[in-house]
Amino acid sequence: MSDHYERVKIELQQMKAVETEAAAEEEQLSPASSVPADVSFAALPRARRDLSRSSINGRSRSKSRGKADGHEKQVNGKHLSDVAPRKSDCSQEKGQSRVSNEQILQIKGTGRLLKSKTTANGHVESCQRQTDEKCEHRGKEDGSKVAKKRRAVTVDTSKAKTSLEALKMSIRLLKWKEFPMGRRTACDIYWHGVSFHDNENIVSGQVNKFPGMIEMLRKINLSRAVRTMQEIYPEEYNFYPRSWILPEEYQLFCTQIRLLKDNDSTLKPTFIVKPDSGSQGDGIYLIRDPADLRVISGSQIKQSVVQEYIQKPLLIDKLKFDIRLYVLVRSLDPLEIYIAKEGLSRFCTEPYQEPSQKNLSHVFMHLTNYSLNVHSGNFVHSDSCSTGSKRTFSSVLYRLASKGVDIKKVWSDIIALVIKTVIALVPELKVYYQADIPPGKPGPTCFQILGFDILLMKNLKPVLLEVNANPSMRIEHEQEVSPGVYEYIPSPVDEEVKVGVIRDTLRLMDPAQRKHITSNAGGVSPEDAIVVETASDEKEGSADSLPSLCLKQVFPKYTKQFNYLRVVDRIATIFLRFLGVKGTMKLGPTGFRTFIRNCKLSNSSFSMASVDILYIDITRRWAGMIPDSREAGMCLQAFIEAFFYLAARRFKASPLREQVLLLLEVCEGALEGQSPTDKPRPQRSHTNPGPMQPSAPNTFSSPALMRRRHQPLQISAKANTDN
Ligand code: ADP
Repeated sequence: MSDHYERVKIELQQMKAVETEAAAEEEQLSPASSVPADVSFAALPRARRDLSRSSINGRSRSKSRGKADGHEKQVNGKHLSDVAPRKSDCSQEKGQSRVSNEQILQIKGTGRLLKSKTTANGHVESCQRQTDEKCEHRGKEDGSKVAKKRRAVTVDTSKAKTSLEALKMSIRLLKWKEFPMGRRTACDIYWHGVSFHDNENIVSGQVNKFPGMIEMLRKINLSRAVRTMQEIYPEEYNFYPRSWILPEEYQLFCTQIRLLKDNDSTLKPTFIVKPDSGSQGDGIYLIRDPADLRVISGSQIKQSVVQEYIQKPLLIDKLKFDIRLYVLVRSLDPLEIYIAKEGLSRFCTEPYQEPSQKNLSHVFMHLTNYSLNVHSGNFVHSDSCSTGSKRTFSSVLYRLASKGVDIKKVWSDIIALVIKTVIALVPELKVYYQADIPPGKPGPTCFQILGFDILLMKNLKPVLLEVNANPSMRIEHEQEVSPGVYEYIPSPVDEEVKVGVIRDTLRLMDPAQRKHITSNAGGVSPEDAIVVETASDEKEGSADSLPSLCLKQVFPKYTKQFNYLRVVDRIATIFLRFLGVKGTMKLGPTGFRTFIRNCKLSNSSFSMASVDILYIDITRRWAGMIPDSREAGMCLQAFIEAFFYLAARRFKASPLREQVLLLLEVCEGALEGQSPTDKPRPQRSHTNPGPMQPSAPNTFSSPALMRRRHQPLQISAKANTDN
């Protein structure tokens, strides 16, 4: 039995053993996490602020916050009774003991755990089914009653870090159950502040981070993913500024800019240089000539992206601003995307002028980062959501509408930008996902809130600046009242936007609301498979008098408009099929040969020896471009390049997009009748590619090794406070 299954077994046993004990213990844990309303956080020295963070609910809250606190008290009062009796739990009505009842419910919300449990215990499976049926029946009779009295959803908040304050508020509003110190038994939801790996060994429930999201959203990887899409769909992906990846494209950048200037001496382009793993404006600078690149740090060439600078942004009150939009990726497969209807607009604090040699270093003029501008003397903290240096996005839209701008068009362009960007990221995310959570094994499912930073150009076209894997969810800001003494002041605009986003993300992830039939269940197509039972995105309020959802579903809602773009996703599906050993992310030479053979791509003019040369050539080049890569073999991006090459070779006369689509049809057609589990054939000796051949991952890489590779990166340890 694998370690993973062993852990699940132990976890299930622990659930049984500690359940009765936990019932009492849990009720004690929760009140300790609740906030003492009479303790003020203000005026504490900086060193103590984290310890006391939760006490911010105190006196300095605004009127609306006071109301919220009142509600929280009521919720707290109800808390124990909501959890303890569970009289309306359908399974309890069946006369089951609390232990088995709890287990069943625990399992109900967590598909993967259910699977391993059901194979081990048919009885539980049948109880589960009866329970569901009865619940459904009761739900029809009196949906609100069942919803009110069901077991509170449990949330492990022990790793929530800077999201904690907004998360606590959301959990109270929903009358859910918080575990601020973690819990020995499984929780329904794990809220991580940084990465998927903040808590290790989660085998059930839902985690609010995807494996690999931090890596994918680094500036270089994001640029690569978008660029791949730009190769096939240049028009659709022209919302991302032209970018060069350093150091590998340093020469290319220099040559292209020289040619540009030679052709038109009046051109004065400006570029923005961003360190690969930077955030909050760190290390960013503007240049007008490649000679000004500060590419060398010590003897190392710095990994960064140099990007065309948008010189004519839309201005309000003569100030440049950007938009922070919160986007929930609720599931990768099937793809589900929600966009928060409200976002933030972050303003510069110095009037904008088009870049000139003189003003290139004026960060308060060119960079909209909150974390930078908050240090400007001109920064305006405002209690109103429509004034000051940070405002709601809707207030900006109203203002634009009052000037005759077609804001519906602006909004729909933004939605398109978001969907297209996520579509560009999904293929690689799926590779990370299967490496950490192999299909068919117990593990959690994932969701994630992303922070999209978008700039509106003067002509109102939205431009993607970057996507944050860990957008700041702080709802207060820091103020230095005297040297070294800081006050935390509630920020109404942050609270308005961020608490709504977290609360409604939780509502959408509520295990009881979510019936998720995967695409391999009964031949249901992914688009048809999602049933959100009561928390539909347009729903008006709920039985618990919660407001309507502030998150709007945009995918699969707009599948018809955007699904044609998912070409690289189809290539990734083929890549994953031949990846072989679970836990790896790179294709070995044998896997690549099997792909060629099974898709019938080799012929007299393209021998298997040529296949090996192609593999070595592309794999070696990509290994050079990703220097910190510890696993040998062909990464997805390299496979995509090989796929494009094969497509161009086979369908010479057509444009690239058509070539790729035609080759996909050939491959998918050939693979249709074959079992995905067909073992790769052993490599024949005469095609041994020789000493340069990278080792096949499956000869040396174990899942454990791969897991270590995914440990949080240095960059991820830094809490993002940018907004
Ligand atoms: P960081 O992760 O360090 O915040 P960003 O890519 O978000 O890096 O860039 C920081 C700021 O620089 C943005 O908020 C925006 O104001 C400005 N900026 C970034 N890219 C561009 C661009 N291509 N054109 C104009 N301004 C940009």
